[in-house]
Amino acid sequence: MKRLLFLFCCLLLLLTVRPAAAEDTWPTAEELFAADSAPDVPLNCDPRIDPLIVLVNKVRGIPQAYVPELVDLDLPHKPGVSTQKMRPEAAEALARLFEAAKAEGIELGVVSGYRSYSTQRSIHNKKVAQRGKAVAELSSAPPGKSEHQLGLAVDVSCKSIDYRLNAIFGDTPEGQWVEAHCAEFGFIIRYRAEWQKVTGYRVEPWHIRYVGPEHARLVTRLNVPYEIYMDYMKLCWDARSHLPI
Ligand SMILES: [Zn+2]
Repeated sequence: MKRLLFLFCCLLLLLTVRPAAAEDTWPTAEELFAADSAPDVPLNCDPRIDPLIVLVNKVRGIPQAYVPELVDLDLPHKPGVSTQKMRPEAAEALARLFEAAKAEGIELGVVSGYRSYSTQRSIHNKKVAQRGKAVAELSSAPPGKSEHQLGLAVDVSCKSIDYRLNAIFGDTPEGQWVEAHCAEFGFIIRYRAEWQKVTGYRVEPWHIRYVGPEHARLVTRLNVPYEIYMDYMKLCWDARSHLPI
C-alpha cells in the first residue's frame, strides 16, 4: 500500500512539474503587420496567385494539370539520379548557390527537383504502402500538394551522407552552409522541426523552396513558417491595394 502511495505521489509530482506545452516562438501575421505594414519586398500582384511566392501545402493544392516552364539543372547530382528540372528562375539561382558553395569548399548534389502530379502520386503511394498513411504524410506530400510540382523546390544533399534525405544533413558542413546562405540566393528552408504543427511535416533541412531573394531574406530574418509569412503578405497586399493610385 505504501509503495502504491509512493508511486501515486511520484506520478502527481511528475504531472505537477511537467513543463507547460511550448508556446509558439514566432509572431502572428497580425503582429508582423502591426510592426511593419509595408516591408520592402515585391508585391506587384496578389500573393495568393503570384506563381513565384504562392503557398502550397497540405491545404492549398495545385491543379492536377499544372506544369510550369522548366529547364534542366546542369548541376552535380546524386549518382544514378537522372537530370532534374526546375523553373528557370529557380534553376539559375540554384546554379549560383552551388557555385558559391563550391568556392567555399562545399560540394552539394541535387537529389530531386520538379515532380509531375503522377510522379508525386507514385512516390507518395509507395511511402504510404511502406509506412502507413499517418507516418508517410509527415514526410511525403499527397499528389497535388507538393511544392516540387511548382518547379520551385529542390532536395539537396551531399556525398558524406550518400546523398540521403535525412535530418542529419542539417548537421553536416554542407547542410549548415545551405541553412546559412540559401536566402541570399532566394531559397528558404521550408520545414523546421519547431514548425511541424503548422507545416504538417517533420524537419527537412534538405528541402529548399525558391521564393526570390527579397522574400527569402525577409522570411529568414523573421524566422516564421511560410504559412505565417504568406498570411502577413496578404495583409500587406490588401493594405497596399486599397491605397489611392
Ligand atoms: Zn522536397
